[in-house]
Amino acid sequence: MPNKIGNSVFINQTMKTNDIRAKKKFGQNFLKDEKILNEIVDVSECDKDTLVIEVGPGLGSLTEVLCKKAGFVLAYEIDTELIPILKDNLKYYDNFEVINQDILNADINSDINKYKKNFKNVYLVANLPYYITTPIILNTLSKTDLITRYVMMMQKEVAERLTSKPKTKDYAAISIAILYRGIAKTRINVPRTAFIPAPNVDSAVVRLDLYEEKKYFPQNEELFFDLVKLSFTQRRKTLVNNLSSKYKKDFIYKMLNDNGYKESIRAEELSIDDFIKLSDYINGAKND
Ligand code: SAM
Repeated sequence: MPNKIGNSVFINQTMKTNDIRAKKKFGQNFLKDEKILNEIVDVSECDKDTLVIEVGPGLGSLTEVLCKKAGFVLAYEIDTELIPILKDNLKYYDNFEVINQDILNADINSDINKYKKNFKNVYLVANLPYYITTPIILNTLSKTDLITRYVMMMQKEVAERLTSKPKTKDYAAISIAILYRGIAKTRINVPRTAFIPAPNVDSAVVRLDLYEEKKYFPQNEELFFDLVKLSFTQRRKTLVNNLSSKYKKDFIYKMLNDNGYKESIRAEELSIDDFIKLSDYINGAKND
């Protein structure tokens, strides 16, 4: 069956017939480029053994391609107004279900458990709303281990931060949060013209494959993530300056000296192993 939804004529017609506009507050930019839609699904390497979780199906352009390739597509859409339209657009597919809910409030793990018994893999594939890309990724990663691959369209700048390495200009707290869980790579660059309406920025599709086995073991995970976040509060400041809002300067200097770091070091110079070393040091000092 040829694709029906992912093109500008269908999207414009659907919005006109149903008297709806793309809502900025929900980050609605609908994909109209069939080639890119197919590429996203190809990058996911999903097949009939895959349960796909989709965030924000919108009018269903990506969902339609996913339904053809995947075993089942379970989608979360926040916009109640779109639900009947989406269901009508996808009425020929019996491997699709939409939950009208904010993904941040969803009990994803138990929803996945209801569907996953017939499938080998669970992947998340989405053209994410740009206003909450990072919260959606971090929230989902924290709520479930059942999803092992994430294929996500996002703003290009966010993609650069997500996939960057130490000592590069885009290296940030989110880069470390991602590195902690898996390997992320930008796989497709997408021009703004691929959407209706066109956003003000270009986009990129990132694929994140989670490690099969946990790779990093800080003594206190919460303290580790707190330290990373605090260290990057202001990029241009030194670690000492950023950490001094929480720890005494004398303690920070001692920590850096004891672990062989220069006192002028900045967060962007530290690898994930460095942060683990420092957070373990703080954890040890706390327990003394
Ligand atoms: N997948 C569609 C496409 O590619 O054309 C639409 C993508 S659009 C960038 C983002 C979609 O996410 C919209 O349909 C929007 O209503 C939905 N959305 C926004 N915030 C959401 C949230 N917190 N939970 C679930 N869906 C959300």
